[in-house]
Amino acid sequence: MLGAIEAGGTKFVLAVGRAPDDILARRTIPTRDPASTLAEAAEWLAAQGPLTALGIASFGPLVLDRTAADWGRLGNTPKPGWAGCEIAGFFAARLGVPIGLDTDVNAAALAEYAAAPRAPAGLAYLTIGTGIGGGLVLDGRAVHGTAHPEFGHIFPRRHPDDGAFAGVCPHHGDCLEGLASGPAVSARWGAPLSQLPAEHPGHEIIAHYLAEACHVLFASLALETVVIGGGVAQTPGLIDRVAARAAARDAGYLPGAARQRIIAPRLGANAGIAGALMLAAAAARGA
Ligand code: ZN
Repeated sequence: MLGAIEAGGTKFVLAVGRAPDDILARRTIPTRDPASTLAEAAEWLAAQGPLTALGIASFGPLVLDRTAADWGRLGNTPKPGWAGCEIAGFFAARLGVPIGLDTDVNAAALAEYAAAPRAPAGLAYLTIGTGIGGGLVLDGRAVHGTAHPEFGHIFPRRHPDDGAFAGVCPHHGDCLEGLASGPAVSARWGAPLSQLPAEHPGHEIIAHYLAEACHVLFASLALETVVIGGGVAQTPGLIDRVAARAAARDAGYLPGAARQRIIAPRLGANAGIAGALMLAAAAARGA
């Protein structure tokens, strides 16, 4: 039996299953301080029976270099108390099983890649919520590079009607996350995107930034699929607006455009935990 954790800033989703699409039990617990949250997660997982491996799909930034002394720790997250927290090592010690670890968005990208009717030429998973994260799968493998993608922190061009807003990213101000995350929407317009009236200009402005992001992915990596998940992305009509804007901005240039798609997650809210189970399965194989 495989164990899985989707570790998020507001909740931890826990699951055990025989395979990524065969979940036997799951539980959601609120994210509090690291000590009590990790202890509760370990206790529930241990109570489900013997595990062969555990997959952890975590918010970041994360140290993913297996040769580094601080592998499996969180980096400089703004979440109070969690910076530097040892996640993978904690569960390895508590549960005594091999650990597979990646970012929540890389794990979700792996799960969406596996859920596609045939393997896409490349897939990105963007989540638009409290923050903006992006995971990447190329040739069936999650991209890590020097650490892991931090796609929320690219710098899109400004929408012409949005020039006065400074952005909410504490590091960059008006990066993608600073302009198009849930807090950026609320900071400008005082409500979540889904609660703004259909004719509100916020819909076009947020679609513009997400379309810029999709164009960067299509143009730089020649991806086939960009999956957009997260709370903000559930705003009715948003993904269609993004796709229309991205196509209009490209103006028929990209040679792969006929195959490229911007879609909602096929797995819905289960992409992250399914990806965590895939990480567990890989760890069980010694991969
Ligand atoms: Zn930023």
